[in-house]
Amino acid sequence: MADLRVLSVASEVYPLIKTGGLADVAGALPDALAEHGVAVRTLLPAYPVVRSHVPEPVILSELTLLGQSVRLLGGSASGLDVILADAPALFDRPGGPYAGDAGDYPDNWLRFAVLCRAALAITHGAIQGYRPDIVHAHDWQGALAPTYLRYAGRPVPSVLTIHNIAFQGQFGADIFGGLDLPPEAMAVDGIEYYGDVGTLKGGLQAADAITTVSPTYAREILDPQFGMGLEGVISARRGALHGIVNGIDTVAWDPTDDTALVKGYSSRALKGRCANKAAVEEAFGLAPGEGPILTVVSRLTWQKGMDVLAEAVDGLVARGARLALLGTGDPGLEAAFRDAADRYAGRVGAIIGYDERLAHLVQGGADAILIPSRFEPCGLTQLYGLRYGCVPVVARTGGLADTVIDANAVALKASVATGVVFGAVTVPAVLGAVDRVCAIYADPKSWQSVQRAGMRADVSWSASALAYARVYRSLVQR
Ligand code: ADP
Repeated sequence: MADLRVLSVASEVYPLIKTGGLADVAGALPDALAEHGVAVRTLLPAYPVVRSHVPEPVILSELTLLGQSVRLLGGSASGLDVILADAPALFDRPGGPYAGDAGDYPDNWLRFAVLCRAALAITHGAIQGYRPDIVHAHDWQGALAPTYLRYAGRPVPSVLTIHNIAFQGQFGADIFGGLDLPPEAMAVDGIEYYGDVGTLKGGLQAADAITTVSPTYAREILDPQFGMGLEGVISARRGALHGIVNGIDTVAWDPTDDTALVKGYSSRALKGRCANKAAVEEAFGLAPGEGPILTVVSRLTWQKGMDVLAEAVDGLVARGARLALLGTGDPGLEAAFRDAADRYAGRVGAIIGYDERLAHLVQGGADAILIPSRFEPCGLTQLYGLRYGCVPVVARTGGLADTVIDANAVALKASVATGVVFGAVTVPAVLGAVDRVCAIYADPKSWQSVQRAGMRADVSWSASALAYARVYRSLVQR
């Protein structure tokens, strides 16, 4: 029986709407938290696609918030208990959740301020018979919720989760008047940020607890190299900061019965991967070979270190490895990988596009997944790799550092190594890692030991849901 009610405030929630990892977390936590006595209701905008998932909602409340007419609609969708903020002038648009054909919506500040104001209204009793014990807001779009709660005298405690500090929700000071906050909120210890309004910055000042998606990222964002200007604010609040790694959906990602695979397999029967490997070779136009197939499933961006990988391709091929890359992103990087595939036909394959089923197949058929990110708050593809025996080869940053055990001599001997971890994101470091991969791969016993140890790792939500539940309980007990 649930004894704690959490109102989650998120701008996207999988599987209703998704552009990034925030949606995965907001979508997975409610179910994972249920077994810890936490009942989550999720407040999100009634975008058209979200409305289509909730065909017959109940009208819970009709409000005017920041001058906008808003209906709160209740319902359930894909097992989630949702409250939709239905404000057609703000959310009924044909484009994406944040941008249309002409770029970012100019009224994004108002759209998400209204969402956060609705959270405050709910804590004040806008929905008959429902009052949350805690508000859990996600990223800059939810970050005004802790701020509204703070200046309303903290009717309930709040938690703010940072999924990627690169997105901060910074707007000109002229929007302040539209937020309906008291004048003292526009101050250094409030939402003022270099003369502008910083919604994430204000939320970091206001939230009772701050979480981010891995312990290493929680430490990294105290540093200017990763904090992107917010390191000072976060350092001042470090006592309230928790790093909790994300889990994955272990039902959707299960190598024993994944329909995207040619053949299912388990850690005891790794031979099943051979048929998938052949399918990967075919899909990417790779010739059979002795060396390992390294895969990449990624946005092709600077953050992901894809410029360094593009430079490292010659060395990778020279070492006898093959590359199967699936990704989209910067046009220059897309062209670089297309070019590499032309130069090294049969050794390098590049599929420029987004293909969910192919992303599953490569995890089930490639030997290793290469993730040379410059920063990575948590990362998901290394977790899929662990689960599928596709050995993660990762930069030592953020969640990558927290989830992969490097195959150094001691770890190999103890059969606990789950991947290869390297330091700097440079061509020599990446190629050094490829050298190590090739050496371990050449010894099938060692390689299978690394695969099996990875497949045994717990990448589910269970430990992390417990950690969130503990954060919530520490706040209500205060
Ligand atoms: P980020 O959210 O920063 O892009 P993550 O590793 O946290 O990085 O999550 C990326 C997710 O997107 C993973 O589920 C990955 O499999 C998926 N993905 C990325 N690029 C592609 C692609 N081209 N095709 C299919 N899935 C992709």
